[in-house]
Amino acid sequence: MAKGQPLKKLARLKDDDVRKRLRAHVVDGHMNLEESDPDATPLVNKKAAAAAAIPDEDRIMNLQDQLHAEGKRSILIVLQGMDTSGKDGTIRHALRGLNPQGTRIVAFKVPSAIEKRHPFLWRIRNALPSAGEIVIFNRSHYEDVLVPKVHKLMPDSVIESRYKEINAFEKQVSAKGTTIVKFYLHISYDEQRQRLLDRLADPDKNWKFSEADIKERPFWDDYRAAFDEAIAATSTDVAPWFIIPANKKWYRNWAVSEIIARTMEDMNLQYPRPHLNIADLRKRLKPVP
Ligand code: AMP
Ligand code: MG
Repeated sequence: MAKGQPLKKLARLKDDDVRKRLRAHVVDGHMNLEESDPDATPLVNKKAAAAAAIPDEDRIMNLQDQLHAEGKRSILIVLQGMDTSGKDGTIRHALRGLNPQGTRIVAFKVPSAIEKRHPFLWRIRNALPSAGEIVIFNRSHYEDVLVPKVHKLMPDSVIESRYKEINAFEKQVSAKGTTIVKFYLHISYDEQRQRLLDRLADPDKNWKFSEADIKERPFWDDYRAAFDEAIAATSTDVAPWFIIPANKKWYRNWAVSEIIARTMEDMNLQYPRPHLNIADLRKRLKPVP
């Protein structure tokens, strides 16, 4: 590809290629994060991805306007990944084209005392999008299988039954008109170290540093295995997982926004066409006398 060629043009010229490469990020049965390169940047170069940023924002904004106007369906975007994998950065950059009115971001932390007294999907159900809305989950119900698996808080049989519960839940949510897209932001162990060191080096970033990040790091391999298992068990036609190589932030941002734009295009959204008597309505819109 010629350097600096705007991606919009590229997407038009080689749409099938872009689609194929993005489809390659979808998890379809087999799952092993070790085989997936977090540095990969298939098909695009940095300049092209940057050139695409502006047209892409318009594209997503227009699609969201149609979603809102239609007022029937909705979208749920799930972001997961290790600490520092860029969940916040993805919301800030890849999803900045979204209209704040009509978008809701929900961050899931360690369950509160009240949340703990309910089934694990309770707080998730309460946060689902309503018609016309886009909701982004910054962490999600997947924490409820990952954390217990890594820290051996529950028997495997319970975790396996949770996968089934999640699949049934997502199927139900999808059947009610919510399109679900799930992203795993894939970074390497070394990239995480670099990002944590950056937080220590920059006084303005010190606040982001959490003791918990150091404590969870030795569990890296266990988290990897837990993600492998959970993702393989829950990547379905109605709620697919995408593994996004995320060591390069520009690629992560491009891939996520491109997948969301394409997912929305595939929804075949339409502005409603109400039957209006335009001539009559025009007449009744009298100017100041
Ligand atoms: P952060 O996203 O960095 O603000 O951290 C939120 C923390 O909450 C992470 O360590 C998550 O693993 C943890 N967390 C979120 N949901 C759950 C859950 N359902 N069970 C246990 N820990 C959770
Ligand atoms: Mg954190």
